[in-house]
Amino acid sequence: MSTAERDHYKIAACPCGQGDITRHVTSWDNPWSGVDVSYSIDCAACASRWSIDSSGATLTDRKSEVESRRAWSVYIETSKRLDEYLRPLALRYVAGQDPRSKKAEHALLTQLGIYRGSYQSYLKDRQRSPLQDVCRLSANPEFTVKIVTTYGDAREYKRLRNALDQSEAERDAAASKVVRRSVR
Ligand SMILES: [Zn+2]
Repeated sequence: MSTAERDHYKIAACPCGQGDITRHVTSWDNPWSGVDVSYSIDCAACASRWSIDSSGATLTDRKSEVESRRAWSVYIETSKRLDEYLRPLALRYVAGQDPRSKKAEHALLTQLGIYRGSYQSYLKDRQRSPLQDVCRLSANPEFTVKIVTTYGDAREYKRLRNALDQSEAERDAAASKVVRRSVR
């Protein structure tokens, strides 16, 4: 069984000045393990307000970070909804071109600029996913407009597109409001 030696070093005062920020170093007495380093904020008030990153260099205000994470997940959801609306339309377009083989599918998607990989990687992707899920529609905005115009509903697309733009702006605004300070 390994034994360990733990050392603790004060590296800075906490933001309010009443406590310490401490580096904990655990050294294992076997040649295979390196040292484990972690950090703690040893002040109840500061530990509840701030989190410390794994490098021990930066403190982040927890509340501002929660808001930013929330805005990010709204953005991801909104972006998924637009994507899910467009994929079946892309499938209809491709089916209308009647590609007779995987090789012909790959050639068509490559020509449209919505698939970037080799034929080999296309075969692998298609083993896992249906055609509409291997396309990267954001790579060809003109194609997106074309399939919406041909098979979709311009108002629904506009609604989803506006929601995405808005969630993107809110994501960036929340990210810019995250409060960070350096430990030292
Ligand atoms: Zn403090």
